[in-house]
Amino acid sequence: MLKINVAKSSGFCFGVRRAIDISNDLSGKSKNVRVLGDIVHNSFVVRDLKKKGIKKIRSIRKTKESTLIISSHGAPKKVFSTARQCGYKVVDATCPKVKDIYRIAKRLENTNKIIIIGDAGHDEVKGIAGQLKKRPITLEKPVDVSKRKLTGIKKAAVITQSTQDIENITNIMNRIHKIIPKARLYNTTCRTTVVKQNDIRTLPKENDVILIIGSKTSANTKRLYQISKRINPSTYWIESNKSLKKIWFKNAKKVGVMAGASTPDHITRSVVKTVREYK
Ligand code: SF4
Repeated sequence: MLKINVAKSSGFCFGVRRAIDISNDLSGKSKNVRVLGDIVHNSFVVRDLKKKGIKKIRSIRKTKESTLIISSHGAPKKVFSTARQCGYKVVDATCPKVKDIYRIAKRLENTNKIIIIGDAGHDEVKGIAGQLKKRPITLEKPVDVSKRKLTGIKKAAVITQSTQDIENITNIMNRIHKIIPKARLYNTTCRTTVVKQNDIRTLPKENDVILIIGSKTSANTKRLYQISKRINPSTYWIESNKSLKKIWFKNAKKVGVMAGASTPDHITRSVVKTVREYK
């Protein structure tokens, strides 16, 4: 019999649950509700909200009597002002933990060069950069740290995207310190991420196969997959039970399951149910 171990920290984080609750609440009360980009990075959540009348938009144009939800990842300040000028009522579903990062970055920017450890194209990183007076430097990986990028900086404050991996942060900081010895780290990775990443460092050691569930656009899911894969090569990243392959479980006795912070529980349950039916 195949034993399935679902990680305690699997599934929605506080910020995602809050953004979905805000959206569900609005869908019953307001008409013409729009969200800029994905409310959270999960295709099932986006589809569910679409069915409730909340449509995703990619750019802001003039409108009347419409509401715009800012996603859990946040957005640059300019997006808020543009939306209001275009006639939207803006409802801010930015995660409070992301707003904490804004506050820290804004406080530090007067006396430091701000460096963000994060994915340059991610909405959260764009949102953080968009709160600041001067353009910050974004570093994704240790190889991004170069003298050319950091030249002339004497004092730097390094903040992190909420879903960063501590190993990546440490490796990047080691390189930064060789160029800017006084650079100081303000680790703004959120607590949910830390708990999930701790769990995903144990789960792959205790199970033969690991399933990471979440959309390919989800930064925190990607991180969970990368950590798990390094520890247990039999780690598979799936969006739902439709991507499962029976052969993965051929010689397995124990399967560990971890869902990203934006993956709904019903998706995880359907994955567990399908795997259970294999043996
Ligand atoms: S991962 Fe953390 S910062 Fe990001 S939405 Fe969830 S609780 Fe908020």
